[in-house]
Amino acid sequence: MSNTVLTVSEDTLLKMKAHYQSSLQSKVPQGGVFMAKPNGCTITAYKSGKVMFQGSNCDAEVSKWQGKSASQTPKKVNPTNTNSTLPKNFSSLAVIGSDEVGTGDYFGPMTVVASFVEPSQFELLKELGVKDSKELTDDAICSIAKKIVHVVSYSLLVLNNEKYNAMQEKGYNMNKLKALLHNQAIRNTISKLEGKKYDSILIDQFTPPNLYYGYLKGTKEVIRDKVQFATKAEGLHLSVAVSSILARYAFLQQMDQLSEKAGMTLPKGAGAKVDQAAAKLIKSKGFEALRSLTKLHFANTEKALKIAKK
Ligand code: MG
Repeated sequence: MSNTVLTVSEDTLLKMKAHYQSSLQSKVPQGGVFMAKPNGCTITAYKSGKVMFQGSNCDAEVSKWQGKSASQTPKKVNPTNTNSTLPKNFSSLAVIGSDEVGTGDYFGPMTVVASFVEPSQFELLKELGVKDSKELTDDAICSIAKKIVHVVSYSLLVLNNEKYNAMQEKGYNMNKLKALLHNQAIRNTISKLEGKKYDSILIDQFTPPNLYYGYLKGTKEVIRDKVQFATKAEGLHLSVAVSSILARYAFLQQMDQLSEKAGMTLPKGAGAKVDQAAAKLIKSKGFEALRSLTKLHFANTEKALKIAKK
């Protein structure tokens, strides 16, 4: 997908701007509301409500907002509408849900969590504050995560930067890495259930199912039974919301550790602050230091090198 245009409501436009806070560009074209460059994708939003996605890595970004496209669903009556393959009572089932964090951040690892949540846990989890992680601050995420780790069965996988870069250089693209980690995390969680029954597995969709399974070709144990995919899955089952929170928590902890290692606070996202921080590191520790701190193939590396040369 190289060029996609969505038409969204004013409300969504504002939400998008907030969502891409860390990768907002200072330049905005005429008639534009904002321009953002999350990894491998340029997003330009116009006052008309038209939002243009350009670049080789836009699928995931487009899918985040597609259901909110004004032309497709003028009024969102039922949030599960866009995922018609899920049964109506899906939110009340026992589900293993998985999600990943860190894929749009230059610094820090990619973290994936799959967690199992059954109906008897719903009330407690809600009481502990579990909801869509996009509505939670990082501080809230940390405090909720510390409580829910004792409540649910889950598997956390952290792909550190050194490994990420090595695999990326071998030709594993980001979606392939995500697919491998989701599949592995789900396998791990199933093995922890000790016979407990689950009705379904829900993967927060980052690529169409056929591509997901394509990425897993050659993998020994591919979980297919009961697997469903949905975008914005955090809102469809608590298990995905739990996984998002735990994955974000792990990411934040890793960022603290990496910041300590780097001797400076490493910024999140992939915006201008990130370029500056990376340039500082190149100057103080040398280019190779980036290998264990960043996702080297991001455009930030080039920008940082340019800044460091000045
Ligand atoms: Mg996700």
